[in-house]
Amino acid sequence: MLNKLVIASGNQGKLAEFQSLLAPLNIEVLPQSHFNVSEAAEPHCTFIENALAKARHASLATHLPALADDSGLCLEALPGVPGVHSAYFAGEPRSDAKNNAHLMSVLKQHSNRFAYYYCCLVLVRKHDDPQPLIAEGVWAGSILKKPRGAGGFGYDPIFLDSITGKSAAELTPELKNKLSHRGKAMRKMLQLIQQLN
Ligand code: IMP
Repeated sequence: MLNKLVIASGNQGKLAEFQSLLAPLNIEVLPQSHFNVSEAAEPHCTFIENALAKARHASLATHLPALADDSGLCLEALPGVPGVHSAYFAGEPRSDAKNNAHLMSVLKQHSNRFAYYYCCLVLVRKHDDPQPLIAEGVWAGSILKKPRGAGGFGYDPIFLDSITGKSAAELTPELKNKLSHRGKAMRKMLQLIQQLN
């Protein structure tokens, strides 16, 4: 079993969600910033490759098991957009407000506003782990014409959850974790971790 796990992310929004989602495991969970690990490059065109690269990078630097997430928003009308480029959709420096404005402007010409969040989680027990643990999650919704709510991070103010009719930024952290791509992937990952011996 694991007793210590590094989270391979510097994204404060994701880190807060991870801390609460991993609480049932009763293991020591530390962000990679605790070890001064730099952000890994994400050069790949698939979520899984980027998640694996981030997990390996953190595990190599800390000599500990590492968990990474690569996630993003995907539009039904425009396959691949913003997808793996979600974090820097409006360019650098990274800005959630600019990403949201850019996305709403791109969608002005489209009647199909369906979208989903996708999350791929990868856990490596060591940097060259030949059998990483992998879990995915999807959250379906649509893109609003105006931002709503003050919670969450990233695209949450413009992502309308199809079940509750609320934007992701209007949900409590607990409800977001129940519905979200990351929450779903993490519950699968917890089962995989509990099966380790
Ligand atoms: P990356 O996985 O670090 O490449 O970045 C994922 C990007 O996708 C984030 O910076 C956000 O823009 C977006 N994203 C992923 N998950 C969420 C979420 O739960 N809420 C809002 N935006 C998200």
